[in-house]
Amino acid sequence: MAIETVNPATGEVVKTFTPHTPEEVQQKIAAAEKAFQSWRGVSFEERARHMHRQADILEAEAEKYGRIISLEMGKPVKDAMAEVKKCALACRYYAEHAADFMADEEIDSKASRSLISFEPLGVVLAVMPWNFPFWQVYRFLAPALMAGNVGLLKHASNVPQCALAIEEIVQKAGFPDNVFQTLLIGSKEVNAVIEHPHVKAVTLTGSETAGSKVAEKAGQEIKKTVLELGGSDAFIVLDDADLDKATEVASKSRMINVGQSCIAAKRFIVVESVADAFLQKFKTKMQSLKTGDPLKEEIDYGPLARADLAEELEKQVQESIRQGAEVVLDGGREGKGSAYFRPMILKNVKPGMPAYEEEMFGPVAAVMVVKDEEEAIKVANDSRFGLGGAVWTQDKERGLRVARKVETGAMFVNALVASSPEIPFGGIKKSGYGRELSYLGIREFVNQKSIWID
Ligand code: NAP
Repeated sequence: MAIETVNPATGEVVKTFTPHTPEEVQQKIAAAEKAFQSWRGVSFEERARHMHRQADILEAEAEKYGRIISLEMGKPVKDAMAEVKKCALACRYYAEHAADFMADEEIDSKASRSLISFEPLGVVLAVMPWNFPFWQVYRFLAPALMAGNVGLLKHASNVPQCALAIEEIVQKAGFPDNVFQTLLIGSKEVNAVIEHPHVKAVTLTGSETAGSKVAEKAGQEIKKTVLELGGSDAFIVLDDADLDKATEVASKSRMINVGQSCIAAKRFIVVESVADAFLQKFKTKMQSLKTGDPLKEEIDYGPLARADLAEELEKQVQESIRQGAEVVLDGGREGKGSAYFRPMILKNVKPGMPAYEEEMFGPVAAVMVVKDEEEAIKVANDSRFGLGGAVWTQDKERGLRVARKVETGAMFVNALVASSPEIPFGGIKKSGYGRELSYLGIREFVNQKSIWID
């Protein structure tokens, strides 16, 4: 894939970038290693000062960076600005907590003293997706740099301006040179980076296929990986749910980023006694959303990030319909070559259909009606993915009981599934492994060294 900015709202190629040559990449890796050797010795206070400065820049220039995000991947500008501001939260969170998260942990043993010392690993490669082109990067960048690591970013090929903007923000914040660099490379060039002896670990957020390839290479090299992959989150509506609140969040959750979110609700599993009422309210909410130019303030959703993604989604929908799914809300691709895709609701979604088995990375809701709580849990767990999920019930104890039984990395009771700096984020099954955010996230890329003193 070419490294270029294509405005998904118009299809116009805005700017094309010359990839870094293999020699330039080698130089950048060497520069990263050099930066690590001094950055690892910098105090937490000084790292935090840079991190707070970075947060100030993100907050002050949210509109400028938000517009770049909208231009490159089509997100409404107000959502893009909110994304940039959320990155500032992550910077501040780790600026304030990293020293505690990395403090020595004393161990009770037969030694006169034994402890765990948390030490940075070195150069970490981050392979990132386009859907939240700032937030995905910052939830790696903030903890990694605060831990004393340095970062190399290989961003998705359709968001090069975002990638370069992040590098620029780090520089403007006063971090030492080369603690965070962008590599303008295609996915084929990633293996050579992983192989390099200075590169100690890799984190990837993206598809299952990309995760598997990167982990394969890292496995050959015996290098640690964290994988944040796809999801097909269940949204379970039980018979005692507050349907007004549930349907409002259902539509928000399915439509976040026009459905291009790993933790968007994708499978709506509704108990039969409330199914008709739920569907009617849900349809009304989904129908009321406004689309248009992402740079306009008043719209709710823009185009998908690329026209080929709309085409792919349409194929999944058509195949599901061919196998018997019923259309409750009709929408779909606006036309051949368009990246715009209107929301759809499908019901009677059954095993074997793409809407049941695969991740639908766009505004298509798959509804499954079940008998009761037990069947709801069974259907929720009948998925290759295990990222997040939600359950709706007015009985919080019941919600907790169901939450414990669903096989995912996170469950939310009566709330929108969302990431935030203090809550660990990550999946199980084909959604990946490892955790980002919270104290667990910062400890993924550190040497958890045991020290025994006799
Ligand atoms: P993608 O095609 O896997 O791309 C993600 C990144 O991986 C891009 O930088 C891409 O580079 C790179 N890549 C692709 N194939 C590669 C390979 N063989 N070797 C090395 N790098 C490779 O995914 P996407 O379409 O951008 O993103 C959508 C997916 O990400 C969805 O499945 C979504 O659920 C998942 N996601 C997961 C999370 C999470 O936290 N769990 C968050 C957001 C998104 P190029 O652009 O150059 O191909």
